[in-house]
Amino acid sequence: MQTKTLDVLFEETLRDMYFAERKILRTLPKLARTAQSPDLRAALKTHGEETQLHVERLQQVFELLGKPARGKTCPAIDGIIEEGEEVMKAFADSPALDASLIAAAQAVEHYEITRYGTLVRWAQVLGRTDLASILEQTLQQETMTDETLTLIADGSVNQAALQAA
Ligand code: FE
Ligand code: FE
Repeated sequence: MQTKTLDVLFEETLRDMYFAERKILRTLPKLARTAQSPDLRAALKTHGEETQLHVERLQQVFELLGKPARGKTCPAIDGIIEEGEEVMKAFADSPALDASLIAAAQAVEHYEITRYGTLVRWAQVLGRTDLASILEQTLQQETMTDETLTLIADGSVNQAALQAA
């Protein structure tokens, strides 16, 4: 029996993220269309474009590994998105709608940050600094997006969510 070492774990986690990123790619336009705040709409739209790059970077990593780009169902991202969509529906006509969108989007970003943070370190340990630097670019965009969403929440959205419509 083949011993499952870190290289196998790394590939399986890449597949998890490949599934997750493609799911996020389909979800972000829905969130952007729902957003009321123009800043929030723009931030979600921009991140949708970045997410396309994240998918392509993962394809590049698979190619450099000489492995087919295949996704593996990630129940964590399915759950995060499902819960976000439920809350969005429940707050559809509420002044807190945008606050609910930011909460859902930040949950997604935090999931991505934890996964890419791990993948970057594993790539380094595996001696694949080439893959680490590709994944690091995505990690930075996830972190920036998280910070942008916090700024939008603090800047207007959370205050607006306090007011009755
Ligand atoms: Fe991403
Ligand atoms: Fe993201």
